[in-house]
Amino acid sequence: MVSGPSGTGKTSICDELLRRIPNSRWSVSVTTRPIRGHEIDGEAYHFITREEFDRMVARDELLEHAEYLGQCYGTPRELVDKTVAAGEIVIMEIDVQGGAQVAQRVPDSIRVFILPPTMDTLQARLEGRQTESEALQRKRLAEADGEIGFAINSGYYQYFITNDILKDSVNRIMEIIEQETKTT
Ligand code: 5GP
Repeated sequence: MVSGPSGTGKTSICDELLRRIPNSRWSVSVTTRPIRGHEIDGEAYHFITREEFDRMVARDELLEHAEYLGQCYGTPRELVDKTVAAGEIVIMEIDVQGGAQVAQRVPDSIRVFILPPTMDTLQARLEGRQTESEALQRKRLAEADGEIGFAINSGYYQYFITNDILKDSVNRIMEIIEQETKTT
């Protein structure tokens, strides 16, 4: 499980992990947030309505769920359960509130928090994204301090990685997965 402020490069890290770990599957989250230009429904996310989301929560179909900047996000249980039952690795990218729930519900999960090299780099990366309005970029940046503070103080994350060079971060996570899956 990978978490970190918006703009730290989590998605690129997860994409690379999926490419490099043969028996890995991406956990397709559900979200009520609007679809961005380049996104395809069913790939990174299933885009659903608030009513559909509430129904999934009521039926206990989500392993975890949270609200981030007014939109709902959640991890469907089904894919996670099936993948784990098949002895494969689930890669999920979720926010810190979801991370806390996964830590409690799946204690043997591997939880990695991605840090930006500096807050200036984070700001520059967010500003470089063409997919969001400036107001939304500012809101995402404003969330970052709280997310980092929570991740460090909560104790829910076993590993912290500063994502300076993508390849190094991915290599480090590969090592962590190798170590953790050897001892369990
Ligand atoms: P974005 O809108 O940029 O795709 O995601 C916003 C935040 O929601 C990110 O921190 C991302 O990791 C998080 N997120 C994505 N999917 C899930 C999920 O299923 N559950 C939770 N709790 N957070 C998620």
